[in-house]
Amino acid sequence: MGSAADYLEDPLFGHTRYRKIKDLNEGTFGIVLLALDVRTNEQVAIKFLERGAGVNKSVLREILNHRLCVVHPNIVQFREVFLTPVHLAIVMEYAAGGDMFEYVIKHKLPHHGQGLVEPSARAFFQQLIIALEFCHELGIANRDIKLENTLLDATQPQPNVKICDFGYSKNEFVDSRPKTVSGTPDYIAPEVLMADQYDGKKADIWSCGVMLYVMVTGVLPFAKRGDDRGNNLIRLQQMFPRIVAAEFQQPLHVSPECQHLLTRMLTPDPALRITIGEIMQHSWFLCNLPPHMQHLNYTLVQTLVPVGLQSVEEIETIVHQATRPSAWPNWPPTTASGTR
Ligand code: AMP
Repeated sequence: MGSAADYLEDPLFGHTRYRKIKDLNEGTFGIVLLALDVRTNEQVAIKFLERGAGVNKSVLREILNHRLCVVHPNIVQFREVFLTPVHLAIVMEYAAGGDMFEYVIKHKLPHHGQGLVEPSARAFFQQLIIALEFCHELGIANRDIKLENTLLDATQPQPNVKICDFGYSKNEFVDSRPKTVSGTPDYIAPEVLMADQYDGKKADIWSCGVMLYVMVTGVLPFAKRGDDRGNNLIRLQQMFPRIVAAEFQQPLHVSPECQHLLTRMLTPDPALRITIGEIMQHSWFLCNLPPHMQHLNYTLVQTLVPVGLQSVEEIETIVHQATRPSAWPNWPPTTASGTR
């Protein structure tokens, strides 16, 4: 085992299977590295959560829900979890193409209020909905669907979507019914803000409606110039009346079918909102749907999980061990410059 400074420099210090390539990002809950799996010569993304009290039930839920979706090609594949002296590490497939937010900014049409061309937006949307239906069939509501959590597998003109974050997910067969406000203000469904309890799956459909809106317009439906950007609570207060009234500007440059679908997804009453099954029968969704995707989820349900996938019990044991603090009680150590 190395010193605390070694692990500060490289969370994978001394690991025999994974070697750090570079930092990818800092998420809400920890750092993410790009690493090489020396056993397979494949690149993987590894998320590191500091050991200790922060590793709670929600972390276990995130990992187990992510693991359940392991066979879906439009969901970042869960590989395994392991412990280091400092972290709980979650190994995933690496999505090399960045996130959808960056993609939309880079590829949107130059006119204000116009986003991706409609066939491109539709191709992404089809994959997103099919991946989400798979989660919903397994009882999992994601509760944080947004462009930034939707990664892409490559930088080519029409890459594949990979849903990546299960940090707020809930499984209806295991967890209690959602009560807390979770998600990002711009994507939050009205009932999440207003009801004592809500159906996380219906709230996901609203968030996908917001995503579709951004894909075809390049702007957020309920945001206005002058809204707060730094404080989520203030931003939510400013947007609240617009969200509950579904007050958004209909994008007139897109087809009437696309406008219809947007209106049906951004319907404030969850009981009247379009269901995921109805979305998959909608004429806009069905247009140019690749034949293999039509029955993809049905086929995948019968697909065997990868050989050697860690069992639920193994994961529970590792996560439980991670609730104990790191090898160094005063982690993170201060460096010579006094900073992390
Ligand atoms: P998360 O904590 O899951 O929200 O991840 C934080 C950020 O790390 C994401 O916004 C991505 O930029 C990056 N990231 C997470 N997982 C992956 C992955 N599997 N492949 C590539 N980048 C990732």
